[in-house]
Amino acid sequence: MSAYAELTPTPLRSPLGRIQACLQGLGKSCVGRNGSFVIQCPAHDDHSPSGSLKEATPGGDVLIYCHAGCSFDEIRNALGLPMSAFFADSGHSGGSEGSDLRESGNDSGGVRRVAHAYSYRDLLGAELFQVVRTEPKGFFQRAPDGRGGYINSVRNTDKILYGLPELMAGIAAGKKVFVVEGEKDADAVSALGLIATTNPGGAGKWSDHYSETLAGANVVVLGDNDVSGRRHAHAVAKALDGKAATVRVLTFPGLPEKGDVSDWLKAGGTAEQLVSLAAAAPVWDPSADPASFSAPTENTGIQSISAAGLYALEIEPMTFIVERFLTPGLALLAGPPKSGKSFL
Ligand SMILES: [Zn+2]
Repeated sequence: MSAYAELTPTPLRSPLGRIQACLQGLGKSCVGRNGSFVIQCPAHDDHSPSGSLKEATPGGDVLIYCHAGCSFDEIRNALGLPMSAFFADSGHSGGSEGSDLRESGNDSGGVRRVAHAYSYRDLLGAELFQVVRTEPKGFFQRAPDGRGGYINSVRNTDKILYGLPELMAGIAAGKKVFVVEGEKDADAVSALGLIATTNPGGAGKWSDHYSETLAGANVVVLGDNDVSGRRHAHAVAKALDGKAATVRVLTFPGLPEKGDVSDWLKAGGTAEQLVSLAAAAPVWDPSADPASFSAPTENTGIQSISAAGLYALEIEPMTFIVERFLTPGLALLAGPPKSGKSFL
């Protein structure tokens, strides 16, 4: 960590100290002095480095900025810090010593723990890097250091799709490939015996070489039920257009906002239903607007399905109070004038 040798000592309880500790924990560089630093942005794979970190006053509020365009919230989420951590005298209790990232231990405010590590393996099964989910929720990536440990940097690592060995075997066998948003969803779909993958880094981080990996495959993109999820699904479908054999985009009507395939499975969705819905999903249309993928924002109780998906729909048989005439609950009674509707 030679980059840190140049740091002027800063009290860890200051906003600057907390953020520097988080950057260090994530393996991001932070170089500068007198309250002004050039940093590697924690929210994207930053080689430049393209971030800046400034103290408004010594020991006071900090300003953090990514010149590559990451938003403040993206940076804050990558650091795993609450808003209050960026301001002085906030009563924030985290960031006790050194790295703010611990493998285990008690929750103390602002300290991130590793909740789950998702391994990205090459075709021979060797681990290239991991996507690590932390608690409170955040993500970072790390790579094996060759000595049984990890370095919190993937700078010199080839980025690949998740579940690559199974994915390539599935494509070779002509199986349908489900592209989801996030490793948790990929695991959930794989657990059904289907072929699923995702890209590291989440929404907005699809690279063209992932599309080459999926050349010739029959792909179904499962979009999360929110604006960024629909936008990501559209971007992935667009990138695959002309490379994959077929591209379909499937969203799950009736899911609450931000719902994903894991939620849909939790609500009782099955592998058979997923395969049926995928078969019925429209082939992606390059001229389609992302907005056209929108599902109802609130659960109206009305399910929209395509005609081709009708056979997958279970319709309950009707029950009658008066045989073939009157159903329980709300019923509509129609007839010509003076035919006895009121009397009935
Ligand atoms: Zn950035």
